[in-house]
Amino acid sequence: MRCQVLSALINYCLSINQRLKNEKPMSFYPPERTLMGPGPSDVNPRILSALARPTIGHLDPVFIQLMDEIKELLQYAFQTKNELTMPISAPGSAGMETCFVNLIEPGDTVIVCQNGVFGGRMKENVTRSGATAIMVEDEWGQAIDLNKVRDAIKSNPNAKALAFVHAETSTGVMSNAAELCAMARAADMLSIVDTVTGLGGIDVDVDGWQADAVYSGTQKCLSCVPGLSPVTFSERAAKVIKNRKTPVQSWFLDLNLVMGYWGSGDKRAYHHTAPVNSLYALHEALTLLKEEGLKNSWARHRLNHLALSAGLATMGLELLVEESARLPQLNLVGIPEGIDDATVRSDLLNQFDLEIGAGLGVLAGKVWRIGLMGYASNPTNVRLCLAALENSLIKQGLAIAGGIAISAANAVYNK
Ligand SMILES: *Cc1c(COP(=O)(O)O)cnc(C)c1O
Repeated sequence: MRCQVLSALINYCLSINQRLKNEKPMSFYPPERTLMGPGPSDVNPRILSALARPTIGHLDPVFIQLMDEIKELLQYAFQTKNELTMPISAPGSAGMETCFVNLIEPGDTVIVCQNGVFGGRMKENVTRSGATAIMVEDEWGQAIDLNKVRDAIKSNPNAKALAFVHAETSTGVMSNAAELCAMARAADMLSIVDTVTGLGGIDVDVDGWQADAVYSGTQKCLSCVPGLSPVTFSERAAKVIKNRKTPVQSWFLDLNLVMGYWGSGDKRAYHHTAPVNSLYALHEALTLLKEEGLKNSWARHRLNHLALSAGLATMGLELLVEESARLPQLNLVGIPEGIDDATVRSDLLNQFDLEIGAGLGVLAGKVWRIGLMGYASNPTNVRLCLAALENSLIKQGLAIAGGIAISAANAVYNK
């Protein structure tokens, strides 16, 4: 009898144990990867620990102070005195949308340059704002042709804005933002600039360029967590937003409303609940950038790019973008004949915990995109990437002498 009770009890305990095993929610622990793709990039541990600090209210006076500091740090990063500078509480794509929906009204005309994926998204934004997009197209992998833009401005003198991508992440191409913004201003058009991948990695000189609406992202060269989009607007652009004839069709992105919360002074009205902890992270990311200094950060991105390209060259891997237009933070690498793109990328991920990017659109299967963004732009990552590529390419039968790629990179660092 006692024995039966005992065994029933044991069975009961076992069944509970089974249930717990099956139903207990489990914590998620991501693998530790090295992120050398087109974004997100590796997040600095200092930023990750800032993220874990206690959440406070989004209207807490201490938080308002933090918001003011973030605005100032963003002004430093963008090299601007623009009042209207803040992070949008959503990823880079929302920064893009913020610029278009606030500046463009139904019936407007916008000249849009496209030399990759993101110019195409600008066009979408223009047409969905009820405006007409005049496209200036260049081959993927080429910088924006200034002559074509000049012609488009001449043929469309009444266009309201000129929109272009400064750093095309789909191709690794940098276009001449200073010149494009100057052309817009000379024609009395607003300039709308995508520098999601530029900020922190190369010179983004908002006031020097006299750019009007500029947006960026947190997960590229700022090495912060994804999900925020720093934006900045010139006084000229701010006036255009204030004097719209029609209300901004997006309630959430309407800057006239957002500024009730992100504007200046002690009185801040609830607009949406700010992503409090993500903003701690952005503050830390910008603090890191200021500690290093903009010029030092650009120089670091450039040096690691040069070391990577020296190593790639020894393996016969070519950078496809003309040297003067290369982005140091995003390297477009041609895949050699007979090498299988997906196999190499999965070797890198599975054997080395290393992520690089695939080609997009017309470049799919033909290129890799190797990012050296923010915290991920360092000599250790350059050597890891070269060693991992060498291993995978040799496995696929490419005749490469082992070790020479890393030696070539080291030679750049030893100079
Ligand atoms: C990544 C990127 C975006 C979009 O940013 P998300 O944070 O992914 O929304 C826009 N433009 C360019 C050039 C980018 O590289």
